Amino acid sequence: MSILKGGVNNTTMQSLLLIRYGEIALKGKNRPFFEKRLLKNIKEALWGLEPFSVLFQRGRYFVKIAPQHSFAAIQKLQKVFGIVSISPVQAVQLEMEAICRQACLILQEQCTGPDITFKVETRRANKRFPHTSPEVNRIVGEMLLNSNPGVKVDVHNPHCTVNIEIRDKEAYLFCRSLPGPGGLPVGVTGPGLLLLSGGIDSPVAGWMALKRGIKIEALHFHSPPYTGEGAINKVLELSRILTGYGGKIALHLAPFAEIQQQLRLHCPEDLIITLMRRAMFRIAEKLAHQRGLGVIYTGESLGQVSSQTLENLTVINSVVTLPVLRPLIGFDKEEITARARQINTYTVSIRPFEDCCTLFVPPHPATRPKLHILEEAEQKIPLDELINRSLDNLETRIITGNPDGEDFLFQ
Ligand code: ATP
Ligand code: MG
Repeated sequence: MSILKGGVNNTTMQSLLLIRYGEIALKGKNRPFFEKRLLKNIKEALWGLEPFSVLFQRGRYFVKIAPQHSFAAIQKLQKVFGIVSISPVQAVQLEMEAICRQACLILQEQCTGPDITFKVETRRANKRFPHTSPEVNRIVGEMLLNSNPGVKVDVHNPHCTVNIEIRDKEAYLFCRSLPGPGGLPVGVTGPGLLLLSGGIDSPVAGWMALKRGIKIEALHFHSPPYTGEGAINKVLELSRILTGYGGKIALHLAPFAEIQQQLRLHCPEDLIITLMRRAMFRIAEKLAHQRGLGVIYTGESLGQVSSQTLENLTVINSVVTLPVLRPLIGFDKEEITARARQINTYTVSIRPFEDCCTLFVPPHPATRPKLHILEEAEQKIPLDELINRSLDNLETRIITGNPDGEDFLFQ
């Protein structure tokens, strides 16, 4: 890698970002697979900020990008799962004089005012470099003290930590590390199908699926004419927010009104919610098989509403054989809401639009329904036919997340 050769303050041309990853470093033989996927995801996340280059070098990624894009790039990278932290760095030649000069610039840029304290922290990945890490710390530290009267060393709680990474061809200096989201690179597990309503919970469940490396497609049930464009726009927008964390998403829109009407006409009122959810799961599983998706994700949380009692979850689950993951199962609503705010889905989720599940809600939904009674109720409607019709009329949109681009119809 040849960046900033022959100078210590040659920062005008390109900014350089150093990216660290965490959990994937533990993955043994799979490590190259994880690293390749993270590289791909980093490049995809930076789409729109061209020209840039991403290099992988011994456990680190380096992004070279135009300085005017560096802030936007950091913001995007802070959403790329697998990344643990990001530092804007300065690269200098592998010699002490250049390292000292850059360290001095960093200290002066970062800290102005009286009683400034600092420490130097060196990591020597390149063992051929003639000075050990403690020696570099000492040499640079002494130089900083001598050339900046008034500054002091504080190894416990300094104003500024000058970090130095000695690598094969260059040294990298930085004083700031911004957190990444952790987790696993999207695409290393899965893919899976997220049941996405317009509510607060399911986008958070989707985010948690992405965090564990699952590439997701989303399925939303809508009930025209009872639910309108507003509900769909909400789900489009939620999907678009999720693309910021996991790249493009196929969003499937399945019509559900006919099933709801049939259930209302022919089945006991207190079972309608459970029966609706069993129908949703059946459709979800069929779609998952068609699309090669190996898991269903939902935003259910134990006891949150009557359809999420243990008994209801059991009879809902019993219609599918695919694994159903409910990452929010043990979360309180407050915890889910806090996460929704953090990932920016909350304000969209609370927009007041009807979801199909809020239609025809009985005053007293059954909390402990019996499986054989549900099965009897389902005999009263042409369930298979209704499910197939919903799938036949399914519409898929690919959400690219590109603010300048249009979402387009897939089928
Ligand atoms: P959310 O749970 O997303 O806040 P909600 O609370 O309105 O929405 P619930 O009744 O709690 O929805 O439904 C539980 C889960 O079922 C949702 O988290 C979601 O995974 C799924 N689900 C509910 N309604 C729909 C829908 N219209 N389309 C797709 N999935 C849905
Ligand atoms: Mg919910």
